[in-house]
Amino acid sequence: MQKSLTSTLVFQLDINEGSQQLLDSGQVEARRVVNEIFRLDAQGYDWETIEDEVVERSNHVQNTTQRLFDKATDALERYYDEDDYGHPRQNHEELFPLRMNHGEGYQLFVDEESESISFRVTALKRNFVRGTLQSSQHYIERLKTALTNDDWRVGTAEVVRTRNRHELHVNVTHKTAEVADKEHAKTFIGVDVNEDCVGLAAVTGSGVEDSVVIEYPEIKKERHEYFTIRKRMQSVGQTTLEHEIRDKEKRFVHDQLHQVSRDIVEWAKQFENPVIVFEDLKDMRDDINYGTRMNRRLHSLPFAQLQDFVSYKAAWSGIPSEKIDPEYTSQECVDCGHTTRSNRQGKRFQCVQCGFQDHADRKAAMLIGTRGLEKLNRDVPALNSPPIVRVRRHGNGLSEPADHDPVSTVRDYQTDGETGSVRN
Ligand SMILES: [Zn+2]
Repeated sequence: MQKSLTSTLVFQLDINEGSQQLLDSGQVEARRVVNEIFRLDAQGYDWETIEDEVVERSNHVQNTTQRLFDKATDALERYYDEDDYGHPRQNHEELFPLRMNHGEGYQLFVDEESESISFRVTALKRNFVRGTLQSSQHYIERLKTALTNDDWRVGTAEVVRTRNRHELHVNVTHKTAEVADKEHAKTFIGVDVNEDCVGLAAVTGSGVEDSVVIEYPEIKKERHEYFTIRKRMQSVGQTTLEHEIRDKEKRFVHDQLHQVSRDIVEWAKQFENPVIVFEDLKDMRDDINYGTRMNRRLHSLPFAQLQDFVSYKAAWSGIPSEKIDPEYTSQECVDCGHTTRSNRQGKRFQCVQCGFQDHADRKAAMLIGTRGLEKLNRDVPALNSPPIVRVRRHGNGLSEPADHDPVSTVRDYQTDGETGSVRN
């Protein structure tokens, strides 16, 4: 199956014509346009009329205004579908990212001689900012490929204001990436995400091929520290500093999630025709009966973001993804099917009916994998003798299994995680 894959590349703008102030003015105008769309929508105008109105009055070129319209109406659509946060509100404090089409609101040029990429951004009608993009060599090379290769397309870009500079976030799309068809999947990689680890199990028609638990206690620890700092700042009214800390925290978590998702995809790649199987977050939110554990999981980690990163990276490796109903994945016994909350105590799973024991997150991953098999109408194997539990620290190699009894292995790994560095 061919699928187009888009990724966002981030560049700093080295300006040599026009100014930062001009880019700021463009974003102030973008905010005004978006505010106007929200206001007219709240007053009950239909969207076609709103689009004509804002294009007419905007100080941005037409297609930039239309991209802003798309973005604002996306937010409105989410509100009408889900109503999570109420009608999108007008905001008079923050700038709004300038969103533009390549070849219209912005233009990129490869300079063969200096091997750099220069840009031209239309900050406002007839007001241009020109200069050179700065980033890692890796990003520069990827953008050059996207600009010169027919399999690629350079799409919309956004000018984003960070604390003291401007960035250009450019979407590039590989038009014809090959992703395997789910129907041909042979190995179902169950992924159980938790606040401090992820359990992975590779399940086929003949049983569990392999499993691993990748730990990332540092994410939980750091987030807790950030949380404490922010609380302290709130209590003394340092809101500016608090925003900075929040940005720092976001960047840290984002960076860590990228690394963890890379680990997951690397592990999945070793199996024959893999498909990644996740719990469906939508189902999780719809059911309020999952109790405190599920709630803690949902609020403890940006789940959706991790799933996105994993399925995106998997797709780049040609691996498809699937979602299953997450009901009772933490409580159901994979051996006899008995389901009760008391089967699980912390990281340990022990079935009160048949006595089956395992690492709780690995067991959940096995169950998620088998539900993937069921969903695609495959025969589900007996899972009563899975391989020994292996646990590794995110960024490290696999640790040797300390014991063949899964429960005592669980006990062992909790004390031997001190060696090696956390980062790749
Ligand atoms: Zn059981």
